[in-house]
Amino acid sequence: MAITKTNFINYTRCKRFVALEEIHKEKLLADISYQDYKKEEDEDKLVELVGSMYETDSEDNEHDLINKENRYLEVMMKYYNEIELLVGDYVKEHFEGKTIYSKNNFYQECFDFNDNGLKYMCYVDVYNEQDDRINIIEVKATTTNKFLSLKYNHPKKDKYSIFLKKYNILYLKDEIEGYDILQEMPLKKYELGRSKLFDRYGLGKYVYDLAVQRFIIEGEYRESNNEDKLKNFHYYLGILNHEYVFDGTYEDNKPVYNPDANGNEIVTLIDLTKVTEEMQKMVYEDKQRLEEYIKLSDASPCKLGASCEYKKQTECKYFAPICGQIIPPKNSSLAYKRNGFGFKDEKGTRHKGLDLINEGYINMLDIPEAWITSKNHQIQRDTLVSQSEYINKDKIKIMFKQLKYPIYHLDFETFPCPLPRFKGEKPYMQSPFEFSLHIEREPGVCDKDKDNYVFLAPDHKDHREEMIKAMLKYMDPDQGTLFAQNVAFEKGRIKELSYIFPEYKEPLLKLYNRGFDLIWLLDTNSKLYQELGFSEEEAKTMNFYDYKMSGSFSIKKTLPVFTDLTYDNLEVRNGTMAIIEYASYPYMSKEEFKLKYDALVEYCKQDTWAMVAILDSLRKIVNK
Ligand code: SF4
Repeated sequence: MAITKTNFINYTRCKRFVALEEIHKEKLLADISYQDYKKEEDEDKLVELVGSMYETDSEDNEHDLINKENRYLEVMMKYYNEIELLVGDYVKEHFEGKTIYSKNNFYQECFDFNDNGLKYMCYVDVYNEQDDRINIIEVKATTTNKFLSLKYNHPKKDKYSIFLKKYNILYLKDEIEGYDILQEMPLKKYELGRSKLFDRYGLGKYVYDLAVQRFIIEGEYRESNNEDKLKNFHYYLGILNHEYVFDGTYEDNKPVYNPDANGNEIVTLIDLTKVTEEMQKMVYEDKQRLEEYIKLSDASPCKLGASCEYKKQTECKYFAPICGQIIPPKNSSLAYKRNGFGFKDEKGTRHKGLDLINEGYINMLDIPEAWITSKNHQIQRDTLVSQSEYINKDKIKIMFKQLKYPIYHLDFETFPCPLPRFKGEKPYMQSPFEFSLHIEREPGVCDKDKDNYVFLAPDHKDHREEMIKAMLKYMDPDQGTLFAQNVAFEKGRIKELSYIFPEYKEPLLKLYNRGFDLIWLLDTNSKLYQELGFSEEEAKTMNFYDYKMSGSFSIKKTLPVFTDLTYDNLEVRNGTMAIIEYASYPYMSKEEFKLKYDALVEYCKQDTWAMVAILDSLRKIVNK
C-alpha cells in the first residue's frame, strides 16, 4: 500500500478515517499511480488555495463547502501552479547549484521508503542541490502574514515578531546567533509563539506538512544507509509575501513580479530546518498510530475534535456526511452566539466546542440553564423554547435615527486573487470586480429596479477606475449613509481604492466615514449604543433575535425571518459561486458568458435589495 504525504496527514487524523477510506475503497488499494498521486495532491492544494482566499475575507458569512470536483474550481489551480513556478524561479536565481522544479510533479524529485509493508512517498516542489547542501522547499499558497503576526511584547512596549527576515528568508530569532529576544519580549511569550508552529491543526499545519516530507526523505536515506548525508539537508516553506505591492509591469499581457518599490520579492522562504527536526518525534509517533489504525480497521465513531477541523476549509471530508451528522443543522449547542469559551458548569469546569457534542450536549436546550450566564444566550434559549422572537424596539428606534438619507445600500463582489493582477495590489487582496447599489432616498422609498445600479467588470482587465467613477456618479460623498451588512468589508475596499487611486482619495474617504452596518440594528454595537446613553449591559445585548436564525446574523439567516425573498431560485447563489463565475470568464463561450454575466448581476442586486427589504420590514415592526 502506498502512503503519500497527503494520505499520511489524513490517515493520522483518527482511527475512523482510515477505516472509512477502506469502506469507500478510495485509496487503500495496492500501489498508487502517478496520476492518482497528482490528483490527490492537486485536490489538497486546491483546498489550501481556496482556504487562503477565504481567510482574508473579513465578512463573517458562512461559506458553502467547496465541492472539489467542481470543474470551475480547477480554474484556481493555475494560480497555485504559478506560485510554484515563482518560488522555483526565485530559488534558481538566488541559490547556487542545480534547482529542480516543475508544475508537473512528474519532473519533480521523488523520495520513498518501505516499512512494515507500506511504501511512504513524496514529491518535492523545489529541490536545490549544491556541493555541500541540499535545500528542500515546500510551496504553500499562504502568506507571510500568518507567520509574522506571531508578535509579542513587554507590557506597554512595541510588539515584535518571533521571526526576522534576512535576505528574504524568515528565521526564528532564537536561531540567529546573538539575537537578544529578551529586549523585545519575555522568553515565555516567545516560546508561546514558537509552540504555535507545532500545532498541526492550526498554523503548524504547513510546518507539519514539511516535517512529514522530511520524515519520508530521511526514511529513504536511512533505508539506503546514507544517513550521514542527512545533515546537509535544509527545509523551507516557500510562500507569498503579504507586503509585496505589484507595480503594474506586464510583458505579453502577463504580470511581471519584479521586486517592489520597497525591495520586497513576491515570494519569501521560511527556514524551518530546526523546527521540522524537533517535529520528527511527533511524526514518528503519528506513523506508529497510522500503522495501528490500518491494522485495526475500526470504523466505529471517534470523539470529535481538533483533527476534524470543523468549519475550516480543511475540514475532514467525513465530517459533513458521517461523523458530524450527529450535530443538528439548526439550534445545536454550538449555535450559541460568540461562545468560544464555552460554558462553566457548577464545579467551574468549562465545556466547549466539539466536546459539548462528545459529552452529549447536542441541542441548544441540552445545555443546563444554570450554565447560561450571558443575556444573549438566555435570549437564544428563551426564544427557542417559546418558538418566538426577541426585540428591543428602543435601541433599534434610536439607531434608526442615526441614519441619514439617502441610504446607499452597497455590496461589493471581490476576487481575492493569490497573485496580484493590477497595479497597487498585494497577494490575496480583495480586488473588487462588481458592486450593486440600491439608493433609498427617503424611509422606505426605493424601487428594486429603478433605484438600482450594478457595475460588473466585463472581462479580467483592470476596471477599478471605472468602478470608482461609477460609485461617485451615483453616491454623493457629502451626504447620506453608506449602508452594508458587515460594512467593515465595504469600507476596507473603499480605503484600499483610495490609496491606489489617490486622485479619488478625498471623496472615497468621505464615503468611508459614512459607513453604517445593518448588524448594528439587528445585533448590536456596544460602543455606539453606550455613546447613545444605554447601559453597558443593554448595549452588549442583541436588539433582535428569532430562534430561526440559529445563532447567526448572516443575511441568509435574517432574510427569511423578515421577507419572502430567497436566493434559491438564482443561478449564482453565494459569494463563492460569484468568484468562480468571474474567475471562469476566459473559459466561457459567448453564450455562456452572457448567461453568467446576467446571473452575476442578479445575484449582487439581490444582496442589496435584501438589505433594503430587511430595513423596511424592521422599520415597520418597530414603528407598530
Ligand atoms: S470527521 Fe473527525 S472523527 Fe470523523 S473521520 Fe474525520 S477526523 Fe475522524
